[in-house]
Amino acid sequence: MEFFKKINITDDAGGKRDKNIDNIEKVKCLIIGSGPAGYTAAIYAARANMKPVLYQGMEPGGQLTNTTDVDNFPGFSGGVSGPEMMELFKAQALRFDADIRYGLVTSVDFSGENLKSVIDNDKLIEAEVVLISTGASAKYLGLESERNFFGSGVSACATCDGFFYKGQTVAVVGGGDTACEEAMYLSGLCKKVYMIIRGDKMRASKILQNKVIDCKNIELMYNHSTKEIVGDKVVNGVILKNKDGKEVKIDIDGFFVAIGHKPNSDIFSKYIDTDKNGYIITRPGSSHTNIEGVFACGDVQDPHYRQAVTAAASGSQAAIDAEKYLMNK
Ligand code: NDP
Repeated sequence: MEFFKKINITDDAGGKRDKNIDNIEKVKCLIIGSGPAGYTAAIYAARANMKPVLYQGMEPGGQLTNTTDVDNFPGFSGGVSGPEMMELFKAQALRFDADIRYGLVTSVDFSGENLKSVIDNDKLIEAEVVLISTGASAKYLGLESERNFFGSGVSACATCDGFFYKGQTVAVVGGGDTACEEAMYLSGLCKKVYMIIRGDKMRASKILQNKVIDCKNIELMYNHSTKEIVGDKVVNGVILKNKDGKEVKIDIDGFFVAIGHKPNSDIFSKYIDTDKNGYIITRPGSSHTNIEGVFACGDVQDPHYRQAVTAAASGSQAAIDAEKYLMNK
């Protein structure tokens, strides 16, 4: 009988090393991630008696916990706040005895029949099936000044940080649905909101575009890219470049980045096939990945729709696929 296993872990500084782990648990079904996909997978898996263990990850509830109103999830005719909706998803999974835990999967080893996942570099879970629902995270521009001012004027979440800029002037970079929603939210709190759009049009849906266009304290700046965020201890301005290469400085107190998302698939990429942008590839019409017993659902495998409702639906599919896989095994 084995009392410990040698596991290759990634430490806090990002380095790789081997560690002996004696805290080993065997489970039937492990779900990694707690957005609409993960919780829905947990509801279905629990009802199918798969006794799912779900690790919530870095952001319990996922991206929707950073959202204000969700108006397009069927069944909530009057709308619902993102965090409230995720609490309802979680409560429903708990009602069927899903085992929902705090913790982050820090590395995996899918090379053998036992699918191994390390939790917080400290505990090893061996699962018969693994459902990956780790979602996607906000992208950043990659500027040094953006990193330097993070938390001191730079944010990727208006709902989380907008309050700090009440009555002040802020900028939102991006021209998609997220940027429009962030700008609308901030326009209700701030004196003025600049929207910095790198091209000559927005990518957002017409309805959201019209909302920002009609909003009196939002100024749209097309054909501008961000060169540098400036300030002393906190942000006080941003230097932009227009399409003729001319620099323009605007005075702002806060800078919100809303330029899309990156799928959270890095820890799986040694074993699981992904596309060039990191989205997990699933077999067409199913949630099967290239590894037997590993399934993917939600935004981590969806470059197209990325909606709460499509994520939830794919979570149910992953649980059904996993149940069929276990039955046939
Ligand atoms: P998108 O990928 O749709 O949009 C990203 C935006 O950021 C684009 O305008 C893009 O410009 C811009 N951008 C990307 N990189 C840079 C950069 N380096 N510098 C400056 N600008 C940049 O992402 P979203 O997060 O907005 O939306 C993701 C998905 O979620 C979409 O499918 C959207 O419809 C959906 N969504 C739906 C909502 C709703 O229905 N209520 C709310 C929020 C999101 P360019 O166009 O030039 O590439």
